[in-house]
Amino acid sequence: MTFDAGTARTWVTAIAATVKENADYLTQLDSAIGDADHGVNLNRGFTAVVAALDGFEADGPGQVFVKTGTTLISKVGGASGPLYGQAFRALGKALTGPEADAAAFGAGLRDSLAAIQKLGAAAPGDKTMVDALGPATQALRASLSNGGSIAEAVDAAAEAAEQGAQATVPMQARKGRASYLGERSIGHQDPGATSAALIVRALQQAVAAEG
Ligand code: ADP
Ligand code: MG
Repeated sequence: MTFDAGTARTWVTAIAATVKENADYLTQLDSAIGDADHGVNLNRGFTAVVAALDGFEADGPGQVFVKTGTTLISKVGGASGPLYGQAFRALGKALTGPEADAAAFGAGLRDSLAAIQKLGAAAPGDKTMVDALGPATQALRASLSNGGSIAEAVDAAAEAAEQGAQATVPMQARKGRASYLGERSIGHQDPGATSAALIVRALQQAVAAEG
């Protein structure tokens, strides 16, 4: 399969649904090591994204992702809005034309991760969304370079993101609000790594739905 504007919309719509369903859970995680707004922030943002995409004429997946990112940046206060916003913008800018193949999509995801790290300066192990998105991107690219289909690659990415999110539990936060807690941030799953895993799981579902 290739990634077109329809696939992009399906993914973003699936993200909005899972964020809504898990908003309380994400906020609960953020209440343990942050300021209890992560689910609220993302739900507000992705609800606005779905509204912005309604009736939006896109000539390819790139425009859908740029619109998604721009909307997140304008609607989400908090660290996660600009970080996810820049990530979607970077993915969108990487995907020119009416459709993207698996290799182009994988390269776009690498650009997204780079955009997050450029803005937030988080390294692996700092207990952030990078700890889910880094392994996911690596797993996706490894699967594709081993000849896997895009469906297999996003399967591997979703698994890796979930494992990455779980692996944040014993970490001490070194970026974002949770870092203010020092050692007391240990023993809790990072909210942003958890939402990142939901986002990658939504991608896997969107790709599976396309067949
Ligand atoms: P805020 O912390 O401003 O309230 P959110 O609660 O929406 O924003 O998002 C918190 C999440 O953002 C954290 O769990 C973490 O994963 C992520 N995050 C915070 N700072 C950074 C950073 N510098 N780099 C990457 N991710 C970060
Ligand atoms: Mg917060």
